[in-house]
Amino acid sequence: MAAASARAANVRDLTRPVGGNPFTRDRRTFLDLLLVSGPNTDYDPVEVSTLQPEEVEAARDAALAAIAEASDLEALKQARTDHAGDRSPLALANREIGALPPQARKDAGQRIGQARGAVNQAFAARQTVLEAEQEERMLVEEIVDVTLPSDRVPTGARHPITTGSELIADIFVAMGWEVAEGPVLEAEWLNFDALNLGPDHPARTMQDTFWTDPSDDAMVLRTHTSPVQARTMLTRTPPIYVVCPGRVFRTDEYDATHSPVFHQVEGLAIDEGISMAHLKGTLDHFATQMFGEGITTRFRPSYFPFTEPSAEVDLICFVCRGTGLDGAGSESCRTCRGEGWIEWGGCGVVNPRVLAACGVDSERYSGFAFGMGIDRTLMFRHGVEDLRGFFEGDIRFTTTFGSDL
Ligand SMILES: [Zn+2]
Repeated sequence: MAAASARAANVRDLTRPVGGNPFTRDRRTFLDLLLVSGPNTDYDPVEVSTLQPEEVEAARDAALAAIAEASDLEALKQARTDHAGDRSPLALANREIGALPPQARKDAGQRIGQARGAVNQAFAARQTVLEAEQEERMLVEEIVDVTLPSDRVPTGARHPITTGSELIADIFVAMGWEVAEGPVLEAEWLNFDALNLGPDHPARTMQDTFWTDPSDDAMVLRTHTSPVQARTMLTRTPPIYVVCPGRVFRTDEYDATHSPVFHQVEGLAIDEGISMAHLKGTLDHFATQMFGEGITTRFRPSYFPFTEPSAEVDLICFVCRGTGLDGAGSESCRTCRGEGWIEWGGCGVVNPRVLAACGVDSERYSGFAFGMGIDRTLMFRHGVEDLRGFFEGDIRFTTTFGSDL
């Protein structure tokens, strides 16, 4: 019983007018069309009200009005379904054309085609306008105010010792030198013996050197970067032009000017006919590049086991430019303590005994070597008064050197 009534509800009464759709208002005409199997030349198209010019115009105008009223893309989509979709008045009317006699079919086809064309054009135009409006609206709604404050995450930077070492290396690389590196745990022989520091040399005692256990291994934390020079001479044939920046270790107190760990840069040139004059020219160029035009060096006689002759290198004070006076011209310059010169490092012509120990023909080749503290050089260059700033990791100190990555 229930099934029978459901079935009855599903049966469509084709004779009953359906809704407000203008193309189903005249059910009889529509049914007649459905029942006709082919063009009926006797059929009077005037009776097909949906194909009447007024009806087509009305459908077209309704579509154009709906398009014009659509205020956003969603509304336009709905208007398209209503007025240009499969069930829209114009689409339904279009389907009825086929049943008309030839002449009437041509007229109706032209009429409906024009109406549909106008409607499609209007859709396309309205869509372009609405899309542009939507984009405009999104630009306004999603605007980001880049001037608003934000939580800043500080950017890291490389340590000034690293960037300083690279700056120095670059100065020498620009002259055609190479950069050489070696291990910080070094053989005693390379750290001392090869460099003419005999077994009784005071630098070998516990006061200066960190020895490692077991002592039979004869290993030390290198006390200078000179073993890198020895390694280079042992493994290469001249000409040799190397610069060796690196970390070194000595049993020094930790204070404003000393640290058990510090950094050195050494240079070594071995070639035919190398003299003290080449050394002086090279260091003057290095000083000018590091500290600016007019900053040159002077040599003072000294002694190092690995060079002969040897010299201390002083730098013209780049603050008072050698006058020893402060800015007002009345008191002593604080940077050089009135000396006009600053101690920078040591240098000399490579001792032939070192060349021989490292397998270089000292009859044919000669060379020069120099070394200075990187930390100390940066202290002069940047007016740092306490060496410990380089080692304590306080970002307020290191950021003053810039934020090179
Ligand atoms: Zn000075």
